[in-house]
Amino acid sequence: MQVPSFTSHLGIRFERDESGESVAFLDLAPHHLNQRGVAHGGVVTALLDSALGAAVISAIPPEWWCATTTLATQFVAGARPGRLTARGRVVGRGARVAFAAGEILDSADRLIATAHGTWHLWPHRPGRPEQPGPAGAVVMRGTGIPLRVGKIVAVGRNYAEHAAEMGEPTGAAPLLFLKPASALAGGGALALPTSLGEISHEVELVAVIGKEGRAIDPAAGDDHVLGYAVGLDLTLRDLQRVAKARGEPWALAKGFDGSAPISPVAPRDEVGDGSGLRISLEVNGERRQQANTSEMLLGVGALIAHVSRFMTLERGDLLFTGTPAGVGPLRPGDRITAEIERVGRLDVVVEADPGG
Ligand code: MG
Repeated sequence: MQVPSFTSHLGIRFERDESGESVAFLDLAPHHLNQRGVAHGGVVTALLDSALGAAVISAIPPEWWCATTTLATQFVAGARPGRLTARGRVVGRGARVAFAAGEILDSADRLIATAHGTWHLWPHRPGRPEQPGPAGAVVMRGTGIPLRVGKIVAVGRNYAEHAAEMGEPTGAAPLLFLKPASALAGGGALALPTSLGEISHEVELVAVIGKEGRAIDPAAGDDHVLGYAVGLDLTLRDLQRVAKARGEPWALAKGFDGSAPISPVAPRDEVGDGSGLRISLEVNGERRQQANTSEMLLGVGALIAHVSRFMTLERGDLLFTGTPAGVGPLRPGDRITAEIERVGRLDVVVEADPGG
C-alpha cells in the first residue's frame, strides 16, 4: 500500500522551478479548520514550511538533502475556506545552510501569514553508507545515488613541467581529447591491456559537470561543477607515440576499457574552485607525481569555458584537467595510490587483462 506523504495527505500541491522560488497551494477543507472556522495554525505553518522548503530543494543539486532547522511564522489573519497560495524563496545561502522567506495569500489576495526560516543542507543523504555505482556512472561521496556519465573530455599539456617531460610545447589553446564512458572504472583491482604495450599513469583532478551549458563564461564555470574526483588518465603510451608520429587520433591509446578510473565525487563546496590543491600519486609506496593544482596552465573555469565553446557540457560529463610531471609505466601487481587534497583518494591495483 502506498503511504501518502505528509504534504499529499494535507492536500498540498507544488509548482517550482530552478530559480530558487516555489509556490504551494492548499484548498482548505473542513478538517483543516479550527473550532472558529478558520485555518488551523498548524495547517498554515505546514503550508509555509512546504513552500519555503520546496524553494530550498529547487535551489540545491538533486543529490543533496535538506531539513528545516527553524521556522518563524507570523499570523496576520485567519483564513476562511478557499484556496491558499504560499510562496517561498531562497534569500541567502551558505555552504551548509539556506535561508528562505515567504508568505500566504488567500483567494482574495489577503495576506494570511508570513514566515522565514533556516534549512540545514547535506551533500548526500545523511547517514547513508558509501556504495559503488553501477557501470558508466559516478557516485557522490557518501551516497549510493549514481550520476550517469555522458562524455569524458580530457585536457593534455596543462602543467608546464609535464609538457616539457613529454617534449611537447605548451600552446595558447589547450589540447583536448575524448574518452568513452565505457572507459570508466572505480578503485580496487583493475584489469588493463598490459599486453598491448606500456601503460602509463597520469593523476588528474576531475571536474564533474552538474549543469548544462554552452559558451560558458569563464567566471561562471564554477557554477557548472557538481563536484570533484581523483582520476587516472591511463594511457597506452606506445600506441600514443605511434599515433603522434603518424598524426593519428589517440582514441585507442586513451579510450580503452578501464582507462578512466575515478574516486567517488566530493561536493564542490567542500573543495572550492579546484585550485590550490596538493595532488600526488604513489606506485608501491614510491612517490611518482606531486604538484599543486594551482600549477595548471588553465584552471577549471577557463577549461569549462574553452570546451563549451565547441561542445555543450551536460550534466554527468567529466572533465579531466591534465596531469603534472612524473608520469611513468605500470606493471601487473602495481599498487597505485592517487590523492588530491580535500577531494579524496583513489587506490587501484593493476591486473593483466587475460583478454588484452
Ligand atoms: Mg592526461
